Amino acid sequence: MANNLLEQRRAQMFPKLTSAQLARLERQGTRMQTRAGEILVELGDSPRGVFIVAAGSIEVLAPPTAAQAASGYELLYLLSPGDFTGEMGTLRGTPALVRVRVREAGAVLLIDAEQLRRIVQNDAELSELFMRAFILRRMGVIESGHSEVLLLGSDHSADTLRLREFLTRNARPYVNIDVEHDADAQALLERFHVQSEDVPVVICRGGELLKNPSNAVVAECLGINAPPADDRVHDLLIIGAGPAGLAAAVYAASEGLDVRIVDTFAPGGQAGTSSRIENYLGFPTGISGAALAGRALSQAQKFGAQLSVAWQAARLKCDHWPYSVDMADGPSIRSNAILIASGAQYRMPDVANLSRFLGRGVYYAATHLEATLCAAEDVVVVGGGNSAGQAAVFLAGSRRHVHMLVRSDGLAESMSQYLIRRIQDTPNITLHTRTQLTALEGSDRLERVSWMPRNGEPVAHDLRHVFLMTGAQPHTRWLQGCVVLDDHGFVKTGPDLGKEQLADAHWNLPRLPYLLESSVPGVFAAGDVRAGSVKRIASAVGEGSICVQFVHRVLREFAEAGNQPTIVAA
Ligand SMILES: Cc1cc2nc3c(=O)[nH]c(=O)nc-3n(C[C@H](O)[C@H](O)[C@H](O)COP(=O)(O)OP(=O)(O)OC[C@H]3O[C@@H](n4cnc5c(N)ncnc54)[C@H](O)[C@@H]3O)c2cc1C
Repeated sequence: MANNLLEQRRAQMFPKLTSAQLARLERQGTRMQTRAGEILVELGDSPRGVFIVAAGSIEVLAPPTAAQAASGYELLYLLSPGDFTGEMGTLRGTPALVRVRVREAGAVLLIDAEQLRRIVQNDAELSELFMRAFILRRMGVIESGHSEVLLLGSDHSADTLRLREFLTRNARPYVNIDVEHDADAQALLERFHVQSEDVPVVICRGGELLKNPSNAVVAECLGINAPPADDRVHDLLIIGAGPAGLAAAVYAASEGLDVRIVDTFAPGGQAGTSSRIENYLGFPTGISGAALAGRALSQAQKFGAQLSVAWQAARLKCDHWPYSVDMADGPSIRSNAILIASGAQYRMPDVANLSRFLGRGVYYAATHLEATLCAAEDVVVVGGGNSAGQAAVFLAGSRRHVHMLVRSDGLAESMSQYLIRRIQDTPNITLHTRTQLTALEGSDRLERVSWMPRNGEPVAHDLRHVFLMTGAQPHTRWLQGCVVLDDHGFVKTGPDLGKEQLADAHWNLPRLPYLLESSVPGVFAAGDVRAGSVKRIASAVGEGSICVQFVHRVLREFAEAGNQPTIVAA
């Protein structure tokens, strides 16, 4: 397959180190002689660090996919003196996606993981060079289609869609085989002794076969997560890796705090599902949610923040300090301060059969992935907020007709003006005001959609794709009554907490809660989950960053009080 990214950006992916840069690195690394054929990095192993070629040459080899087990490793890149190995996984300490082998004997300089982290944090010139190369190389491996991970699935299976999204949003390369359409599918099912009813099936590293695995099982098999944090007490535990959580991770880690961030699914949160964000400062031509999340995560990890995905916070324990959060089917993590950045989720309209068609014609995101599933067919978008507007404009871009259903009289109160103008100027979007979705029908997948104008009769349409963009509900169940919430379940913070509420919550510090601090000292909330927050990426990022200032203050206070749990709410 032609690797376009490689052609366009080869110079940035494979920059040659100058003699001055090499001299700086020489002081920090370990020189090693190499033999022809020696394996420096084995596929699936934790990377030892970065190898810089001093003499001879090194091959970067991609594995054969499970679908082509008979073929051998394929040469992706040949590195010569001045080149270096590594990609984002090298910095994160996750298993190598490629094999690195010496072709011509010579010498290398090994910069181990710890030294590498110091360099990217302290040497601005080398940091830019390494980080850009690492990010582009990860994208290059994904684009090349090389992976030993195979997903056998079906477009009509909600679990297949879940797994595709999980792998894609966690930037894991995989080979996708649709058992209904792919010519090789039958042979593969026979080779792995699976029936078509078993799909989705993931063939993992080393050939391990997983039938309809949970995201957590896939994450473990692929070694996506940094190793668990033993029984360490972190400075800051962040629940949720959306824009608020990632921003807090970048600022806190860059200011020297020990930070752990966990997410049920993947970095990026709601923003990660957006096809194009056009109102985020600094990106005049827009940026996809996936790209924004990928960059933010790389930045947080550069400063040493550790992310675990497919970990769901199930319970906050706030009656003991340090606090702890129990993960569903996972460990309990302890931390001196907590940031609640678990965001919100769009509501399900009250329509029968809705969950049956999730992923089979009903979607909560309008990214390229879902757009591919609709091909050129007409679609329905439900909702009148910004995410609905963006979805409608994005989906209309592929010449299909978009029916937008909103219950209100218009969009003015719920949508940004620039999007309203776009919708008005797009002839293949029809806005149905005062209209609501009433029925979804089909057998295996969605085949017919009905909607009803106010004071009218429901009408059925032969449409197979509905995008639900219908208002948010906060992810606060895991807080288990620890902190004060508003009537809609959002976390109240700072000046929004009245005297009475603080008294009821047993707030026992001489000061009032800081901005963004909840009714429990040292437990903060930022982004969409916070009561009264502006539901935008920039504001979530802003809140995540601001709260780090208060985390520092609280940690100082706790230390000055002799780390006494008595300063915490009873
Ligand atoms: C499709 C779409 C497009 C959008 N486009 C724009 C736009 O163009 N511009 C704009 O300004 N805003 C946009 N928004 C809104 C914006 O994305 C949100 O305001 C922003 O993402 C909120 O960030 P957050 O970090 O507070 O929460 P979220 O983005 O909701 O992230 C919360 C994270 O917490 C995780 N989580 C939840 N519960 C748990 C738990 N118990 N344990 C562990 N993890 C948990 C979730 O998996 C999620 O990743 C869009 C929203 C959507 C859905």
